[in-house]
Amino acid sequence: MSIQVDMESLLLEVLTETSSSASEGKVASYIPELSKADPSLAGVAVMTPDGLFQAGDSSHPFTLQSISKIITLMAALEQRGVEEVFARVGSEPTGDPFNSIVKLETAEHKPLNPMINAGAIAVCSLIPGSSVEERFSIILEMLEAILGRTVQIDQAVYTSEKETGHRNRALAYFLKDTGVLEGDVEEVLDLYFQQCSILVDCTDLARIGMFLAAKGITWSGQRLVSASIVRLVTTFMVTCGMYNASGEFAIQVGIPAKSGVSGGILGAVPGRFGIGTFGPALDPKGNSIVGVKMLRELSHRLDLSIF
Ligand code: GLN
Repeated sequence: MSIQVDMESLLLEVLTETSSSASEGKVASYIPELSKADPSLAGVAVMTPDGLFQAGDSSHPFTLQSISKIITLMAALEQRGVEEVFARVGSEPTGDPFNSIVKLETAEHKPLNPMINAGAIAVCSLIPGSSVEERFSIILEMLEAILGRTVQIDQAVYTSEKETGHRNRALAYFLKDTGVLEGDVEEVLDLYFQQCSILVDCTDLARIGMFLAAKGITWSGQRLVSASIVRLVTTFMVTCGMYNASGEFAIQVGIPAKSGVSGGILGAVPGRFGIGTFGPALDPKGNSIVGVKMLRELSHRLDLSIF
């Protein structure tokens, strides 16, 4: 049997075995537009040096949400350098939910890491430019170079989050008060909401995962980001990428990953694969139920854990 048939039948098998668990989860509703997602959708894609393999709803579009945090972090590190970025954001896991505000007052003013909302908003404020459009184009440019295609934002999700993102607004104004956030707060929030609303599918996530697995080299062979930046970002994916479930995910799955509340999970297996999963029904910590299960199965069957 060819690699193609093997990998695609494995993906289909894993998807079929896990997709019924979607009924155990709930679609995110705190962003009203996300609540319209069909909880039974499930898709998976794997990108290897041999090509792209997929199963299920792997071409169904969804918004990047928190997965965008890794793109913006790479862009900020490229544009501003390690020292400036880590003057504004820390590198420790929190154990708190992704949108928690509590540690900003009780730990230190700097958000604990760039994968929680407070940290990602602080990182957004470091993206240079004289307008939101100019700043957003830096993020888009990096993502589009990785994907080899242009991307769009989902206007309805963007508007919905902009209108209801009170918690993120609170985080951003707190950060402004403590001097962590640079520039105009609403402009930074606008940039953050836009990056969260970028439309992708599982195959895109698999491609980004492969880019990270290849230490910053695109499918077409272009070095886009230094290997040291990719090492930093993938380390954050291990320690903080699955929010306050990162420890258990490291034990059960053992690959650098980043999830988003619309149901996507991006996995990068260093030197080997990129994986993208999608399933909008989430567990209480905000990770896709089916996505985590599929990744666990793939990790066991293909021996993917880095530990
Ligand atoms: N846009 C979402 C928010 O800020 C992203 C969160 C996530 O995907 N966990 O709440």
